[in-house]
Amino acid sequence: MKRRDFITGVAGGATLSACTPPPQTGAPTGAAGERFAWRMVTAWPPNFPGLGTGATNLARYLEELSGGRLAVEVYSAGELVPALEVFDAVSAGTAELGHGGAYYWRGKAEATQFFTTIPFGMNALETNAWLYYGGGLELWEEVYAPFGLKPFPAGSSGVQMGGWFNRPIDSLEDLRGLRMRIPGIGGEVLQRAGGTPVTLPGADLFTALQTGSIDATEWVGPYNDVASGLHRAARYYYYPGWHEPGSIMECMVNQAAYDSLPGDLQAIIRVACQAANMDMLAEYNARNASALAQIAAEDSIELRRFPDEVLARLKELTHEVMADLAARDPLSARIWDSYRSFMNQSREWQRIGEQAFLATTDL
Ligand code: CA
Repeated sequence: MKRRDFITGVAGGATLSACTPPPQTGAPTGAAGERFAWRMVTAWPPNFPGLGTGATNLARYLEELSGGRLAVEVYSAGELVPALEVFDAVSAGTAELGHGGAYYWRGKAEATQFFTTIPFGMNALETNAWLYYGGGLELWEEVYAPFGLKPFPAGSSGVQMGGWFNRPIDSLEDLRGLRMRIPGIGGEVLQRAGGTPVTLPGADLFTALQTGSIDATEWVGPYNDVASGLHRAARYYYYPGWHEPGSIMECMVNQAAYDSLPGDLQAIIRVACQAANMDMLAEYNARNASALAQIAAEDSIELRRFPDEVLARLKELTHEVMADLAARDPLSARIWDSYRSFMNQSREWQRIGEQAFLATTDL
């Protein structure tokens, strides 16, 4: 017997207690009840630091919290389906769970991009605030519902780095003709600035940059970038990561599979995803700091901030790209309204809260 049947039975028994004894049989075993063996497909290479290990951690939480009633087998990209077919695989029920980044699915629905990150948008603290307390998650559920998917925030890289460049970026002119690996909305912005965005999987970045087939690449942040050897492929490491100010990772659940679970296992998924979200952000903040210290100690690397002129223009172009997106896609327009109004209010608090406090570091 499923737990929810048991609960219904008890409630019914209580209502009828004057004339009917409560059900006695099957209740305790029903609560311990059914076991589920699920599959999680991911967009990450095997043992990929941070993102891939985050998916593995989430699977472990689900198994431990459920006392083994929800067992999850994790598949790296390519093991069951390729990285960019995770969305379709979970939608079709080939796997019950998927771990990836919502902006990979912009070909399915452009509005998915809001749920990973937006250039010059919200940082990780603000994005989580919007998702959990500002209506963001409800909008995300609305975007995924037509695909039979239920999304949960399940990780965060925090703010990323601007990327590795084989020549300095001193002015807007230096973006002209720049061949850079930068996906999504950030890529569209670079294109409008005169550059050439290139799409390449992470595994190809080192060789492409080292051989000069690209001039620059963004990847994640110090932790992943050093692990991928990018600090050996280019001299200039730029910040801030204007294009990915607080990227959120996702766990998507096949809706029918989710509906088949008893309420306690559904709650375990929700809370385990929140734990995974917090854990990944903590891990990135710890490991980015140590990797940055390693980078800063190397003479072969120049750590540089993008000039204000460049950032200001990229921001202006981002607003144009977002306005065009909102004009062609009504769902994106509605989400952009929610995102922007939340960010405007949130930013004032960040300014006098976190930002003002961090400024005291230099006193
Ligand atoms: Ca990135």
